[in-house]
Amino acid sequence: MEDLPGIAITGASGRMGQMLIKTVVESKKARLVGAIERKGHDWVGRDIGEAMGGSALGVTVTDEPLEAFAKAQAVIDFTAPAATIEFAKLAAQARAVHVIGTTGMTVEDIAQLAPCARHAVIVRAGNMSLGVNLLTQLTRKVAEALDEDFDIEVIEAHHHHKVDAPSGTALMLGEAAAEGRGVELNDVADRGRDGITGARKRGDIGFTAIRGGDIVGEHDILFAAAGERIVLRHMATDRTIFARGALKAALWGQTQKPGEYDMVDVLGL
Ligand code: NAP
Repeated sequence: MEDLPGIAITGASGRMGQMLIKTVVESKKARLVGAIERKGHDWVGRDIGEAMGGSALGVTVTDEPLEAFAKAQAVIDFTAPAATIEFAKLAAQARAVHVIGTTGMTVEDIAQLAPCARHAVIVRAGNMSLGVNLLTQLTRKVAEALDEDFDIEVIEAHHHHKVDAPSGTALMLGEAAAEGRGVELNDVADRGRDGITGARKRGDIGFTAIRGGDIVGEHDILFAAAGERIVLRHMATDRTIFARGALKAALWGQTQKPGEYDMVDVLGL
């Protein structure tokens, strides 16, 4: 057991944080060594298992990330952009693999990860599931095969707590479509239509975000032309797919050189 890679989870009380704690504890390939919450959180100082309403797991929730990271071989982080940038610096200091599931990061946020990736492995993906990563490959291929007679629209739906839009996954899929077309997503992305927008611009990649209830995550990539339509669809019904993917990335990262990677690298797609 002592030989298994130790994993620290940030945002331990969050929806994904709790799912990750359960996934690591149930795994026979890793052990839980840290649970991190922000200063002032009422879980700090409590056993993480008990705080989650179950039996004790022997790991006390801490607000000292560096201390926890120093005991870990990997940090799995599904929090918020500002927190993730700070965690990246600390994970690099501790030479721990940093698996980043946090979405809503800007280009400037992402640029701040590069110096950290000189010292440690970073695996970042807007979606850690096998199905969605496979879907990005399919999207790239379909976009490559079709010309601009086909309008590309990415439509996503998520639960009503989600704070960023379009979802990280929708942006990943948009990137894949743009790559397939040989264009920059930033040049063609049409995000958020309202009012007299004018006709759709040929070659644009459109995004639509639906928010409601407890939807875990649904993504359609629509290729619409005169007389026909292709729809590629992924539906997530359980958050464990993201947690299992993140753990896989944490284990995969143990044998990689420092640098920035994504789930396509991890899954060898
Ligand atoms: P959530 O339930 O709101 O959890 C976020 C957690 O992060 C909370 O525990 C929060 O603590 C903590 N946190 C936020 N800012 C922090 C800070 N500055 N320092 C320390 N902890 C901080 O959200 P969620 O649904 O779990 O999602 C978390 C992130 O993962 C989102 O960006 C979401 O889009 C992303 N996500 C990614 C995937 C993927 O496969 N890549 C899948 C699902 C979700 P407080 O409660 O104290 O604020």
